Amino acid sequence: MSEKKSKGQELQKKLTYKKRNYYETASKEEKKEIFAYAKGYMAFLDAAKTEREACALSVEMAKAEGFTEYKFGDPLKVGDKKYFVNRGKSVVVFRVGTKDLEEDGFRIIASHIDAPRIDIKQNPLYEDSGMAFLKTHYYGGIKKYQWTAIPLALHGTVILKDGKKLDIRVGEDAKDPVFYINDLLPHLGHDQMAGSANKIVDGEQLNVVVGGLPYPDEDVGDKIKLNVLSVLYEKYGICEEDFLSAELSAVPAYGARDVGFDRALIGAYGHDDRVCAYPALTAVLYNETPHTVLAMLVDKEEIGSEGTTGIQCKVYEDLMEEISLALGANFRKVRMASKCLSSDVTAAYDPNFPGVYEKMNAAMLSCGTAMCKFTGSRGKSGSNDANAEFVGEVRKMFAEEDVVWQTAELGKVDVGGGGTVAKFVANLNIDTVDLGVPVISMHAPWEVVSKADVYSNYRAFLAFMK
Ligand code: MN
Ligand code: MN
Repeated sequence: MSEKKSKGQELQKKLTYKKRNYYETASKEEKKEIFAYAKGYMAFLDAAKTEREACALSVEMAKAEGFTEYKFGDPLKVGDKKYFVNRGKSVVVFRVGTKDLEEDGFRIIASHIDAPRIDIKQNPLYEDSGMAFLKTHYYGGIKKYQWTAIPLALHGTVILKDGKKLDIRVGEDAKDPVFYINDLLPHLGHDQMAGSANKIVDGEQLNVVVGGLPYPDEDVGDKIKLNVLSVLYEKYGICEEDFLSAELSAVPAYGARDVGFDRALIGAYGHDDRVCAYPALTAVLYNETPHTVLAMLVDKEEIGSEGTTGIQCKVYEDLMEEISLALGANFRKVRMASKCLSSDVTAAYDPNFPGVYEKMNAAMLSCGTAMCKFTGSRGKSGSNDANAEFVGEVRKMFAEEDVVWQTAELGKVDVGGGGTVAKFVANLNIDTVDLGVPVISMHAPWEVVSKADVYSNYRAFLAFMK
């Protein structure tokens, strides 16, 4: 083989575009960084399975770096490191930079910390045929059958009659009990399996098993239910009525694990979208920058970004206006100059299901964080569709820092689609584009990502903040 490239080979190198597999091109040192960064991320995943837990942990991490709480009306100055908590379910971590705010705007990274799960209803507890159950209502887009026959943990918050707040977390410690949603045995599942997958288990069948011991008193009915209530009362001081003002969720009880002999991948519950939230948070916490940067970790993305903790709530706009005001800047000018990465996951190309992807434009595993110029469905309906100028600007930032990244589209045209928070940020007159980690089996109880892509996402944020 000759070392010298032919004219055609040289031309090919110069003119054609090819994705890079990050693992293939990373130096030995960088590979170490990829694996080390994954460890921190996996610890975050295990400690924060709900938006409340992710919010609390983020605040804890921010405090450890000297960030202090910001409230509307507080004064601000260059160099300030602050966090703003919205109702315990979303948090904005920010640094005030040296650049002129009206000219430079904010650099925003917006991710969500809620994830698909099984929420407990407000009047949930009953017993039937030797078991006590909690009735549920699923949260976000799930394949319902995937949530049966796996160990589940219960996480959440109960507000008692007197207003006292209780945090619940059962099923994560190896000594804890776990919970369970029944499925039908294959021997009796013939009719079940013949139906559409949507109907294998329906919403009202997602009842969580929480007990089986009868209360030892012959004079009462619903003994198993009563026994569960007595355990809850003993442990937490909860009565049945307290479920009325509770937010409890069943989530997979297992933790994040390395996947593969070579440990290239991570399996975990809720990569979507903590795989972007964690890099956004750590980018702002651990790195100085001349820009005023905000990591917005928001709630309710999985159900349309609604409510007081979803990104459509005015609180985020108010916060940006308050920051501008405190720094003596005109908010309209500030947001016009601002830039945002809407950081949410995308679908990784899956060779087991090639039919739904368009290979040239699908995100490939380990080829870096993926930019979606547009999301939406059918004719880009409901999409932000970032302009070429902004995409070009971000592309230049990444090139200057040698970030391994790719572009992506979620599935074939007309096959499906999805949305993110991008369009809501863009509605504020802020240039926004989607950028996030490709995920295998998105929204399943256990999703898979590549460690290389997680680190690439972090590197992309650093480039964006530089
Ligand atoms: Mn998401
Ligand atoms: Mn999602």
